[in-house]
Amino acid sequence: MFALAIHGGAGTIARASLTPDDERQYRAALTAALALGHDLLRDGGAALDAVEAAVRSLEDCPLFNAGRGAVFTHDGHHELDAAVMTGHNRLAGAVAGARQMQNPIRAARLVMERTDHVLLGYPGADDLAREHGLPLQPAEYFFTQKRYDQLQDARASGRMQLDHAADPNWKKGTVGAVARDVHGHLAAATSTGGMTNKRYSRIGDTPLIGAGTWADTRCAISCTGNGEYFIRAVAAYDVACLLEYKNLTLEEACRVVVHDKLAPVGGEGGLIAVDAAGHVTLPFNSEGMYRASQIAGGEAMVAIYKE
Ligand code: ASP
Repeated sequence: MFALAIHGGAGTIARASLTPDDERQYRAALTAALALGHDLLRDGGAALDAVEAAVRSLEDCPLFNAGRGAVFTHDGHHELDAAVMTGHNRLAGAVAGARQMQNPIRAARLVMERTDHVLLGYPGADDLAREHGLPLQPAEYFFTQKRYDQLQDARASGRMQLDHAADPNWKKGTVGAVARDVHGHLAAATSTGGMTNKRYSRIGDTPLIGAGTWADTRCAISCTGNGEYFIRAVAAYDVACLLEYKNLTLEEACRVVVHDKLAPVGGEGGLIAVDAAGHVTLPFNSEGMYRASQIAGGEAMVAIYKE
């Protein structure tokens, strides 16, 4: 048995704000990323490879706030955060503030597999990617007009802005994947450009192990939302704690974190989770979350809005 879930960010994604064509594009991108991971898992591949493949495909898609299409910092740069973690051996790798790498998730995996460290910041993270021959890109590669327009709006309002906020243009997001493979191993991966108009060198929850990304032998979690809240809630690890110490089901644990803990203090967003038995849940407290999942032998589920 295997299971996979992916997300493309959570936020104020109102039905009225997406044209049928937008919606079709998002669904197609999610479906393609899910299929990549699904096929790897179906063929006996590792959860780690599946989550990396799914996240890479979403990083390469300019619709999402990760890799190409990442949001702008206040001073007009892109600073990319990503993390990956495997549950059975509790290994983790992450990069923060990276500026040139095409696929931050690949660099996060390099940190995990080729260094003694867990988290590398800029410029060392980009140097590591270069040393290992990962593709680097000039600043123009990450530029998209819509993101640039978002930055102008956010600057004018003086706020740091969740990528998918009320403005209809702000509707795309951070990406992530969680998987359980046929060997029973769990893995999680998350990648983001962070929040529009963030101060330079701001680091969100995504690359912080336990905050935005977590995997152990019980569950794998990838979060999306207003990172500062997820950091203070240690949100991803809190799900694992509720499973371990309170014996909650995956669904109950995720509901507690997303709806009872994050929502009341303003922590808008959601997460995707899979457990050792292959249960999958994708809760969010925002208006929508780009998401998809598939369990061995089952149909692909792709959704955007609240059901
Ligand atoms: N969690 C990300 C961050 O705060 C943003 C997002 O999920 O859209 O950097």
